[in-house]
Amino acid sequence: MSLIVAKFGGTSVASPERIKNVAKRLISIKQAGNEVVAVVSAMGKTTDELMGLANAVNTNPPSRELDRLLSTGEHVSMTLLALALEAQGYPAKSFSGRQAGIETNGTHNKAKIVKVHNERILEALEEGYIPVVAGFQGIDANGDITTLGRGGSDTTAVAVAWGINAEICEIYSDVDGVYTTDPRVAPRARKLEAISYDDMLELSSSGSGVLQSRAVEFAKKWGVVIHSRSAFSDAQGTLIKEEGQMEQAVITGIAHDTSEMKVTIRHVPDAVGVAALVFSALADKAVNMDMIIQNTSLDGATDISFTCPASDLPRAREALDEVMSKIGTDKYDVDEDIAKISLVGTGMKSSPGISAKTFKTLGENNINILAISTSPIRLSVVIEASETQRAVQVLHTAFELDSDSVFEETQLSAEEIAAKMKKGR
Ligand code: ADP
Ligand code: ASP
Ligand code: MG
Repeated sequence: MSLIVAKFGGTSVASPERIKNVAKRLISIKQAGNEVVAVVSAMGKTTDELMGLANAVNTNPPSRELDRLLSTGEHVSMTLLALALEAQGYPAKSFSGRQAGIETNGTHNKAKIVKVHNERILEALEEGYIPVVAGFQGIDANGDITTLGRGGSDTTAVAVAWGINAEICEIYSDVDGVYTTDPRVAPRARKLEAISYDDMLELSSSGSGVLQSRAVEFAKKWGVVIHSRSAFSDAQGTLIKEEGQMEQAVITGIAHDTSEMKVTIRHVPDAVGVAALVFSALADKAVNMDMIIQNTSLDGATDISFTCPASDLPRAREALDEVMSKIGTDKYDVDEDIAKISLVGTGMKSSPGISAKTFKTLGENNINILAISTSPIRLSVVIEASETQRAVQVLHTAFELDSDSVFEETQLSAEEIAAKMKKGR
């Protein structure tokens, strides 16, 4: 007998029919002789809709109130799933984040889990119930509701799996595992049997939406094995675990991220302390910089560019407006139509020539590079957002990641693909 945590994402619980199917799935896990705890996301696009409602009444909603509102999406799905289980003859108890003992710090909208008080979940299991936990939320030291950032139910699932010492954390979604790249963007993507925490973490933090990066971070820290698999089929998915005997590819996968923007400050005087002034002002406004590019100066002045989440734009503007006169320039441009394409692989460390091949491939395909950054296990390039799909596909082919088969469910329209790649997914 195993103790399993099974997390179902928004698509998997998008309708009453799908919720009934999730209930069936949980029952079959139990019938196979296991104990199971469910974790759910809000139904379909509920979180986006709640966000829209908040913005309709307040364009700058206070984060405490926003968290309270957003947490209700998961309250609906957890209760409906418990009801569906009961209707199929299986006792179930739903738990909000507070009731499930998910304690977080007080950083509203992107809180970190600091403790899991497991008593109520274990008690419910012992009494024969299937516990159903609301993902994405917790409670801070003041007793206020917090949320864990978009995609945060993945993190709830991993934290609960750790908190109750489950054998495995199964994350069910609308894809049957982790692919070498988003299979809806590159239909020749190949499903991975297993991937190391480090590679998965790098892919997730470079924009691959399949797992929230916090969840992978948590799993790596505490050794929780994740099985990413399909809510709609029984196919074996992808195991995310400590790197062991798994095959060491040079490039494990390619991620894309269209949620960032590029700001270029023009004609910055080439003088000591100027960069410190600019970036301190941005840091004071909590702007999360990613890449920074400074050109060489020609006539005593230079351009400085940086990328950051597009959602930080209002705060970046406040910071720049304050600092511009101090540094003696008054012009900056904002480009929101950019994409970051990242090649990831722990095997990259010992393989020269990755950058050359990447630049050559993009060049041959007429795709202009706007910025570059590297780490020992990642190479990222910024390009125009409209080139995202083509760039991912040509690089996927160039690095010999293509599968012989074509991902069957890729038949999304161009609009649907664009919507999937939309800012701040
Ligand atoms: P859920 O709502 O269940 O949490 P998500 O939408 O967050 O599911 O994650 C699943 C989606 O992740 C897939 O539909 C797929 O388009 C996207 N995705 C991005 N990168 C990858 C990848 N490397 N492998 C698999 N899916 C990916
Ligand atoms: N419902 C939240 C979101 O849409 C959390 C999640 O789905 O994981 O981001
Ligand atoms: Mg998700």
